[in-house]
Amino acid sequence: MIIQPMIRNNICLNAHPRGCVLYVQQQIDYARKQGQLKFPKRVLIIGSSAGYGLASRIVSTFSAHADTLGIAFERPASGKRTASAGWYANEAFLQKAKETGLYAHTIIDDAFAHSTKEQAVQAIKEHMGQIDLLIYSLASPIRIDPDTGERYTSVLKPIGSSYSSLSADFSGNLRTVEVAPANDTEIRDTVKVMGGEDWELWIRHLQKEQVLAKGIHTVAYSYIGPELTYALYRQGTIGKAKEDLEARASTITALLSSLSGVAYVSVNKALVTRASAVIPVVPLYLAILYKIMQEKNIHEACIEQMYRLFASRLNGDPNIDLQGRIRMDDWELRKDVQDEVNKRWKRISPETAHELADFTRTQQEFLQIHGFSFDQIDYTKDETP
Ligand code: NAD
Repeated sequence: MIIQPMIRNNICLNAHPRGCVLYVQQQIDYARKQGQLKFPKRVLIIGSSAGYGLASRIVSTFSAHADTLGIAFERPASGKRTASAGWYANEAFLQKAKETGLYAHTIIDDAFAHSTKEQAVQAIKEHMGQIDLLIYSLASPIRIDPDTGERYTSVLKPIGSSYSSLSADFSGNLRTVEVAPANDTEIRDTVKVMGGEDWELWIRHLQKEQVLAKGIHTVAYSYIGPELTYALYRQGTIGKAKEDLEARASTITALLSSLSGVAYVSVNKALVTRASAVIPVVPLYLAILYKIMQEKNIHEACIEQMYRLFASRLNGDPNIDLQGRIRMDDWELRKDVQDEVNKRWKRISPETAHELADFTRTQQEFLQIHGFSFDQIDYTKDETP
């Protein structure tokens, strides 16, 4: 069948199998060309099939030659429906990783469930013995509490008062969005889904099962962003969840003291991923940011960010801030970059949008995550989903 992108509200509903293979291959090529890394050697990546988690896994495998176990929640193809992009990306990754002779396996299941943690312990014991790095890179809209069976949904809302701002889709069509404030239940539920409770549960479980190596490192990913998105992001429901995640890093470091282990939160830069595409305002901010960071020669996509994290901070001085966080958003939040973002934000309009922002690049990255928009692929050809 012919597979063309089906996009609704910045969500791509399908994926192109061969395009997803190319998307993964390009990241592998990048990771292979960089200097080899000593650390890590045995890695568990939770959220391993897309975005930052996938890039972390590719760097672990192809720059550090590590064995990896991944956890992801992805959908296979059925009938005429394509698989999810992460499904194809995961398959492509596994095939390439296995060609190197390294151990690589993915558990496609709900990371929040006790049974998934059990499966992970079994796989680690059998194939890796112990792990020396755990990456926590989940972006999930829901969580079912494994003890009570209660279902929690995360929302992206401001707290206290409503938020109104200019936003855009990836084609550069501008519109104003208005988001009503969250109620207390929505705040609590978002923290339950995207906060650090599950990260801590993973660590407790793996420690109890003695599969964490001496000197274990664990890193979870967070975001802060510019002042212009504070009301919606950092001071909104998701910001509360990220505060919880960041606070858990000290709890987990204390838990790991007998192993001389350490937990970090790495604050990463804003990038086009499936998760960030659905946050109001963010696609417009990304298009402006991408243009500025490219002009200054400091643009990074997921793979470049993750190689820099692993090479400079996990194999060198983590260079933490006063709150103990690794700051991979250092270039995004540079004063000259943010001054320029603010200047352009004030001037943005349907007439100036394509001059001040790079919608071509952000739209292409969004499509490529789903296997579309690669020059090398003829999208008019029949494909088996
Ligand atoms: P993504 O949507 O690209 O990937 C999310 C991953 O989580 C996928 O592998 C998916 O399969 C997995 N997943 C989701 N629900 C799951 C479940 N229940 N069980 C198992 N796996 C599940 O997301 P991303 O943008 O790479 O985000 C990863 C982390 O990085 C998040 O914590 C996010 O807040 C953070 N972050 C993202 C950005 C950004 O701009 N994208 C910036 C800074 C930090």
